[in-house]
Amino acid sequence: MRRTKAFIPTSKEVPSDAKLLSHILLSRAGFISQSAAGLYNYMPLAKRVIKKIENIVNEEMMRVGAQEVELSFVTPADLWAESGRIEKFGKELLRFKDRKDTEFVLAPTNEEMMVNFVRNRITSYKNLPVNLYQIKTKFRDEARPRFGLMRGREFIMKDGYSFHTSNEDLDREFDAMEAAYKKILTRLELNYRVVEADSGAIGGSESKEFMVIADSGEDTISVCSKCEYGANIEAAIRGTNKEIPEAPEADFNKFQTPNIKSIDELALFFRVDPYYTVKTVAKKVIYEDSEEIVLFFLRGSDTLQEVKAINATEALDIVDVSEEELIALGLTPGFMGPLDQDKAKHVMDISLKNALHMICGANEKDYHFIGVDLSVISEVAYFADIAEVKEGDTCPHCDGKLSFTKGIEVGHIFKLGTTYSKSLKAEYLDENGKAQPFIMGTYGMGISRLVASLIEQHHDENGCKWTKATAPYMVNIMVSNIKDEEQMALGEKLYRELQEANIEVMLDDRKERFGFKMKDAELIGFPYTIIIGKELANGNVQVYERATTEKTVVSVKSILDEIMALVQ
Ligand code: ATP
Ligand code: MG
Repeated sequence: MRRTKAFIPTSKEVPSDAKLLSHILLSRAGFISQSAAGLYNYMPLAKRVIKKIENIVNEEMMRVGAQEVELSFVTPADLWAESGRIEKFGKELLRFKDRKDTEFVLAPTNEEMMVNFVRNRITSYKNLPVNLYQIKTKFRDEARPRFGLMRGREFIMKDGYSFHTSNEDLDREFDAMEAAYKKILTRLELNYRVVEADSGAIGGSESKEFMVIADSGEDTISVCSKCEYGANIEAAIRGTNKEIPEAPEADFNKFQTPNIKSIDELALFFRVDPYYTVKTVAKKVIYEDSEEIVLFFLRGSDTLQEVKAINATEALDIVDVSEEELIALGLTPGFMGPLDQDKAKHVMDISLKNALHMICGANEKDYHFIGVDLSVISEVAYFADIAEVKEGDTCPHCDGKLSFTKGIEVGHIFKLGTTYSKSLKAEYLDENGKAQPFIMGTYGMGISRLVASLIEQHHDENGCKWTKATAPYMVNIMVSNIKDEEQMALGEKLYRELQEANIEVMLDDRKERFGFKMKDAELIGFPYTIIIGKELANGNVQVYERATTEKTVVSVKSILDEIMALVQ
């Protein structure tokens, strides 16, 4: 490509809403342009990067026997009603009607479509397993689209779905997909970690996320200092901590605690570690067609993990609740405790099961109970893991310690089981001629989010640094002074030769100053720039390597061989 003919509108301007470096650089370097909140146009450079990522994904999918298909983007809303997700997915699901008043949605994911695609087509165990995937635009009307390609409303996702006759076979495919995803991310030269994840609105049992490690990541992941354990904070669990604070010895008693409401005040008042206090978190829990106030109880040293709380109550969402609403129920904010079970639904964290020496609210203004033995309610109370792990907690698999790091979720794989095949009545006949629901897995990867993730990990203050596997053009030939016939002739010659060698090459033949063209090359981030300048008089050119920002002098005679060696 000749730069004079290329559509690469680089600019100094930073989009007003851009905070993330990848968003700023991809906009400035002429890769993307915004058309509305969360909607982006891909310019030629971005299109080339996306194709590269897609090719790698396709190659690795082919290797493990997954087959590419393409589903219509516009999806009949009926299918979403059949699965029951039309309500569950909420406002992220964009619905509309056609001229005949039939309702449709823009696919945010395709479990329903894919089940519908195979049902009544795959009818026998003989034709299973099968793994079908597509790479296509998705639409989610995200509440806060932001960070450019990182969280768009319209984005490109690879979504795959596998169908099996047994859980063992699903396990095998899940492992194969994990291995394939790891290969893809390694080929893309991304530093990532596979972590255990929450299964969210899609439903199902086991799920894993692929997290690109970056300070700008929106997800917090908890990782072990010793073993491979890693989990999204929404799903992270911990082992039993060895160092437990000394217990306050006291008989069961009601104690006056005037105006002592917070955990800090309580711990200070009784001079105990917050570990021995019961924290009450009141929330309003939203279900499909109702809502209720739920009290969540934890040790004072812990905090409520909201996703775990949502899972524990099988809710759609949980929101804050006002003191007035609590008082209306007969509760006493600041002094609520778990021993009075009948005013609101209770969920107790598992660390409170049979806990001894506890201090908790007495459900009476200005009073707390001390010396509480919670085994008295272990029969009636509902226990669930609702606490967020903390840095320094013990790993659930070894004696290592957990610490936190930030990650970008670029992939997510699930074991779905029969959730969708049952609700959509998708069955096959087993060896005995008996109808069985498909056992399913689903595998997602954010293609456009990967473009942004690559830049989050590969950039400097001057611009992008594309990896060899993803660069829109591998080599940029920069002719310093296009009026210099000798320089231009060498530029043209190298341009031809590299093209003939199937190297993706750009010839910067613009009538611009050297400094300007160099800045542009850095901003765009070509892995190699051949600089043809004054050195040519001595028979030399320079090679600028974007990854290291180093320049080396190479003789004109050996430049082609040098470049060919570098780009391999
Ligand atoms: P997130 O938690 O970031 O909202 P998700 O868990 O809702 O993502 P999945 O349903 O697991 O997303 O979708 C599979 C993949 O699609 C994600 O791992 C991510 O890489 C990508 N993805 C999801 N939402 C977006 C978005 N709004 N913009 C770009 N990529 C997205
Ligand atoms: Mg996810």
